[in-house]
Amino acid sequence: MRALVTGGAGFIGSYLAEALLQKGWNVSVIDDLSTGSIKNIDRLKSHPNFDYTIDTIMNIPLMAELIDRADYIYHLAATVGVRLIVESPVRTIETNIKGTEIVLELVAKKNKKILITSSSEVYGKSNNVPFKEDDDLVLGPTIRARWSYACSKAIDEFLALAYYREKKLPVIICRLFNTVGPRQIGAYGMVIPRLVSQALCGTPLTVYGDGRQTRTFTDVCEVVWALRHLMQEPAAIGEVVNIGGMEEISILAIAQKIKELTGSSSEIQFIPIDEVYDKNFEDMGRRVPDIEKARRLIGFNPHTGIDDILRKIIAHMKAECANPSA
Ligand code: UDP
Repeated sequence: MRALVTGGAGFIGSYLAEALLQKGWNVSVIDDLSTGSIKNIDRLKSHPNFDYTIDTIMNIPLMAELIDRADYIYHLAATVGVRLIVESPVRTIETNIKGTEIVLELVAKKNKKILITSSSEVYGKSNNVPFKEDDDLVLGPTIRARWSYACSKAIDEFLALAYYREKKLPVIICRLFNTVGPRQIGAYGMVIPRLVSQALCGTPLTVYGDGRQTRTFTDVCEVVWALRHLMQEPAAIGEVVNIGGMEEISILAIAQKIKELTGSSSEIQFIPIDEVYDKNFEDMGRRVPDIEKARRLIGFNPHTGIDDILRKIIAHMKAECANPSA
């Protein structure tokens, strides 16, 4: 079996590539290293069943070749991270819409099976938790750049489902909820690596707003398990499936836990939302998935608690600080 992982040098993609190799698959990765890093796949490079290409998914002849060689396509390449989205909306829309359009068109020509990662961001600012896959999406106005990400991912979903219905293309769509773990970086806005690195450096932990907004965080290894099993589950074809954790926690509680687990004396600093990116920024109050569908399809049952997740991330970041070139 050969899988092509687009975005395979990214945080989630590199864990997926490694897990597939461990299961005896051949794995090809394409990544333009825009948010991914070659460091993420360093230890995979010498594996005999692994190859990688540093290029963009917009390179159509190259993508045609890579898709032709693969049996299964995991499409993870995307512009991600709230900071990046707000600061580079053109890139967000182009990569996420054009890129997916190219991938789907080529995959349909060769009739390969494809799994596309979407995002819990598509639920927008709905307060109707837990979010179910067929719930209405509640998005903000177009003057707020953040929503371009939700819209672009929603268009990807529409397009993938259109290929499924019209052309019988076997597609699976996964909406990922705040996936976290070692190697995730804070540069594009993600809260946990940012707060852990602040705690370890002794700088204030930046909590946006009053910190009462909640999320559910999922360990990246459990997300990768779900992606692998959904790809093999015939009943998942043509479905949109939430993949996320069940433990709802506020961002303030996360900051307090990080302080406690690192033994940091950093203070918690509350930053008004208006001062975070720009006046047009909007945050979500609560985000909790209904994961009944994933449970039914593949027995998905995330069990890694937030303390264990944080401990792993803290240990990794401490090791990196001690040996930055490793
Ligand atoms: N957040 C925060 N401090 C930071 C970065 C993020 O308080 O330094 C908040 C952010 O406003 C959001 C939550 O943490 O409420 C999760 O943010 P992230 O960007 O990780 O994911 P998303 O907003 O997509 O859930």
